[in-house]
Amino acid sequence: MAVKADQKLRRTLIRANREVRSGRPPFPTDVNVAVHKFPTWIGSPRRPVEMTQFWFRTRGCTFDRAGQCSMCNYGIGDEIDIDEVGTSVERILSRVRKGSFIYLSPSGSLLDDREVPAALRERLLACVAKREPTRFVFETRPETCTPERLDRVKEMLPDTTTLVCQLGLESWDPDVRSLCHLKPATQEPYVTVLGRLRERHYESIANLTLGGLGLSTREAYEDTLTSVRGAREAGFTTKIVFPLSAKSGTLLGWAHDRGLWNPVPLWVLVLLLAAAAQDRPGPDGAGDLGVSWFNPQIDDVVKSRPDGCDVCRPHLVDVLNRFRQSPEQRVLDDGLDWRGCGCLAQAIELLATDHHRRYPDRLAEIAERWEYERRDAGDREPLPLL
Ligand code: SF4
Ligand SMILES: [Zn+2]
Repeated sequence: MAVKADQKLRRTLIRANREVRSGRPPFPTDVNVAVHKFPTWIGSPRRPVEMTQFWFRTRGCTFDRAGQCSMCNYGIGDEIDIDEVGTSVERILSRVRKGSFIYLSPSGSLLDDREVPAALRERLLACVAKREPTRFVFETRPETCTPERLDRVKEMLPDTTTLVCQLGLESWDPDVRSLCHLKPATQEPYVTVLGRLRERHYESIANLTLGGLGLSTREAYEDTLTSVRGAREAGFTTKIVFPLSAKSGTLLGWAHDRGLWNPVPLWVLVLLLAAAAQDRPGPDGAGDLGVSWFNPQIDDVVKSRPDGCDVCRPHLVDVLNRFRQSPEQRVLDDGLDWRGCGCLAQAIELLATDHHRRYPDRLAEIAERWEYERRDAGDREPLPLL
C-alpha cells in the first residue's frame, strides 16, 4: 500500500480510536493508589519472588489521549493534585518491607512529565529509594527515556537496586506498530533507548503483543515470532508476550463487536512460545521469554479473550502458568503433547492457512465501517431548530 494511503488510513483509525476511548468512565477521584502483590520469577536460573505493584492515579496516559494505542483500555482521569496523590502513595510505599521488589506504575509512562510531573516523580522515587528495593521496575514510552531522566532514576535509587525499564514495543515491524497498534515510534527510538539503558546498566523488557488489530491469526503468529527474534537481537533482556483480548473502550473491542477482529486461539500462544523459546534456550534451560494477560476473566471490560474449549482451557492455563514459573522449552513440549480435543489441530491448521488478504485490507475495512457508522449517525441527527 502506498505511503500516502497508509497515512490516511492511520489518521482515520486514530480518529476512530479517540472517539471510542472517549466513552470510558474516568478514574474515581477518591482512589489515589492501589497495591497488588504478585508472585513472579526473576533471574537465571529463575527463582520465585514476590513483586509489589503500586498503581497511582494520574490524568491518564498522554499517548492514549492522542488515540495512539488500539488495544489499551487504561483509564482516563482529571488533572491530579500532586500533593494529595504524592502523600497517598508515600503513606503506603513507606510500609513496604526493605529489600522488596517494587513496580511503580501510573496509568501510562512513569517518565512522562505531562502525566507524572517531575516534582511528583522525584518525591515517589525518593520514597522507593528508602525501601532499598532489590529490583525496581517501571514502564514508560521510549519517547520519554531522555538521558537526563534515566540518569536521575539511577542517581536516586541505591546502587544495590537492579533497575528494569519496560517498553511497549508491541511489534518489531514498524508498519504493524504504526498501523495495527497506532504507535507512531519507528525503530530508531527503541534502539537508541536500548543503548542508553545498556550504558546505565538497566535491564530492559520488551512488551510484545500477539493478535493486533487487522492481523489474521497467521499474520499475528508470524509478526510476534519475528518480533521476539528482533527484540532479542536488538538486546532486550526479556521479551514478554501479551495475547490481546477484546476490551470495551478500545478500537480492538469496537472492531470485535462488529465481527472485524477476534483474539487468537490460546493454542497459538503456546505454539508461538514453543517456536520462540526453541531459538535460544539459556545455559540452564531457562529462556528469556515471559507471558502475561493469557487468562483474563470475561466481564464488562473483557468481551472476548484468547481461548480454548472447556476441555483444553484448564490445560492451557496450567501450561502457561508453569511456563511463567520456568520459561523452558520442555514445559511447552509437555503441553503440546495433547490429545484431549481437536483445538490444537485446528490451531495448527489455521496457522497453515493463507487467506490471501493482508492486514492493510482488513484495517481499511475497519476504517470504512467506522466512517460509514459516523455518516449514518450524522444523517440521523435531528436538524437544528432555526
Ligand atoms: S499501551 Fe501504554 S502507551 Fe499505549 S495507551 Fe496504554 S498505557 Fe499508554
Ligand atoms: Zn479444546
